[in-house]
Amino acid sequence: MALLDIKDLHATVEDDTKAILKGISLTIKPGEVHAVMGPNGAGKSTLSNVIAGRPGYTVTGGSITYDGQDLLAMEADERARAGVFLAFQYPVEIPGVATATFLKTALNARRKANGEPEIEALDFMKMMKANAKRLGVPDDMLKRPVNVGFSGGEKKRAEVLQMAMLEPRLCVLDETDSGLDIDALKVVADGVNALRTPERGMLVITHYQRLLNYIVPDVVHVLAGGRIVKSGDRTLAEELEAKGYGAFTEATAA
Ligand code: ADP
Ligand code: MG
Ligand code: MG
Repeated sequence: MALLDIKDLHATVEDDTKAILKGISLTIKPGEVHAVMGPNGAGKSTLSNVIAGRPGYTVTGGSITYDGQDLLAMEADERARAGVFLAFQYPVEIPGVATATFLKTALNARRKANGEPEIEALDFMKMMKANAKRLGVPDDMLKRPVNVGFSGGEKKRAEVLQMAMLEPRLCVLDETDSGLDIDALKVVADGVNALRTPERGMLVITHYQRLLNYIVPDVVHVLAGGRIVKSGDRTLAEELEAKGYGAFTEATAA
């Protein structure tokens, strides 16, 4: 069974009838990493936000099935508890909440949804420290408020740590690579690669091919003007980098 099955998805932003997504279809099987590449304004963030159930969008047609369930019928927090994780292009700061506390609360919410008991404090500490070590997150960052005063690279590390801790089934990364230097890019990629399992699926959204040198996708989709104009294997990303988006968008403009 597909992990994520998007069929002919149409969406607008709220209070506007202009279509942003104009019939997106894609299917992610467990274990697969799909990349979505596209120019600015193509609808990439709209797609990720609609998957995550963020407010401000209206689905006007089509369907999304996640692990056999009607995803669009679920509230955003239900989706998160069911294992849908969205890493943001612009991570939010949460003053007054230590990163460790935030992680524990989020993990317990996910466990509760699965009918599991709260994690023991000691087990949580062990799990967090092991993940932090693996991802190069220093201990003092775990004590600091979520994202407050973090550098760009630290925010990304914190986000990958969060993703690792929550053990999602579906990871959506919306331009998580934007503004990263090459070292931070590798941290994100290593973290994401460490999370690749036969059960998990990933949707990696990016404007540039660079990230895909490190996170090698199974399938690449080109999103332009609210439509997937081409899908292919990883070589499509290289073709895009060489030719630019124009070659793909012009062909479908008519
Ligand atoms: P991308 O992430 O590919 O750059 P977006 O999904 O952010 O694209 O935006 C797709 C299109 O939808 C753009 O034309 C953008 O201007 C428009 N759009 C996105 N959000 C809003 C909004 N809240 N109000 C009006 N238009 C929006
Ligand atoms: Mg954009
Ligand atoms: Mg975007």
